[in-house]
Amino acid sequence: MVSRGQGLIFQILLLYLTGLMGLSWNLEKVGASTFILEPPTQPSPTPQPQPKPTIRIIFPAWQPLIPPLGEPTPYLPKKSEPIPLPGDFSIPSHYLGSTIYRVEINQNEKVIALTFDDGPWLDTLKILHILQQHNIKGTFFFLGQNLSRHPEIAQQVVNQGHAVGNHTWNHPYEPMNTAKAAAEIDNTTAVIERLTGAKTQLFRPPGGILNNGVVDYAKSQKYVVVMWSIDTKDYQQPSVTVLANRVINQVHSGAIVLLHDGGGSRHRTIEALPLIIYTLKQQGYRFVTVPELLQIQQN
Ligand SMILES: [Zn+2]
Repeated sequence: MVSRGQGLIFQILLLYLTGLMGLSWNLEKVGASTFILEPPTQPSPTPQPQPKPTIRIIFPAWQPLIPPLGEPTPYLPKKSEPIPLPGDFSIPSHYLGSTIYRVEINQNEKVIALTFDDGPWLDTLKILHILQQHNIKGTFFFLGQNLSRHPEIAQQVVNQGHAVGNHTWNHPYEPMNTAKAAAEIDNTTAVIERLTGAKTQLFRPPGGILNNGVVDYAKSQKYVVVMWSIDTKDYQQPSVTVLANRVINQVHSGAIVLLHDGGGSRHRTIEALPLIIYTLKQQGYRFVTVPELLQIQQN
């Protein structure tokens, strides 16, 4: 027989167990809801400004503007371009039609002429800056094909008081007939005058070649064929010291020095130039243009 007290204890125990089960069930519910991982709600990305596509313009390879043989060049300066008056670079008449390598200076005067071939070129501007810094003048032998590429640089050369000469249009080495030589020389001189106002009577043959026909034509037209007495061979890219010493060790009064401002990288020439100028100025040399050199000799 179950006593009344025992029955009461049984009921209490039953209620207790039922309560535990209910609590356990509730915990499962709570736990289940705890471990439900909702995917994190990310803010919708705000639209970022997209970089603009880079437009690359590919230019065709540069072609020199070469006029037809015997035809005047099509380049004409714009009306707004100032055409400076030519400097006084007259040539003593007895030099016209002759070839010079150096000038004999009778007086006790140290003079030297720096000459630059194959421009106008971008490096010409750096050389102009150096010459301006040292307040000296040089002589630039222009190529016609580069005149049409850098007409403003040619104008700067003349505006800064330097002398200019003709170095043909295409820099040819091969033998040529009179018509070809005339086109090379006449077109270049015409463009120099049209661009700068300078009428040049100076001619330097490409490569110093005297027997391929171009010099014969230049002499027939009464140009002075300007060679040189000091060759820096700067086109071979020697070291700056070697380049400068080639001038310093061979220097003499009346010298004509061959340098290049165009036709390739001229950074060695540009670096050596202040060294050459400084050293020779220390020795008492005065830097003149080729026409001035010829005029000194005449006096
Ligand atoms: Zn040349």
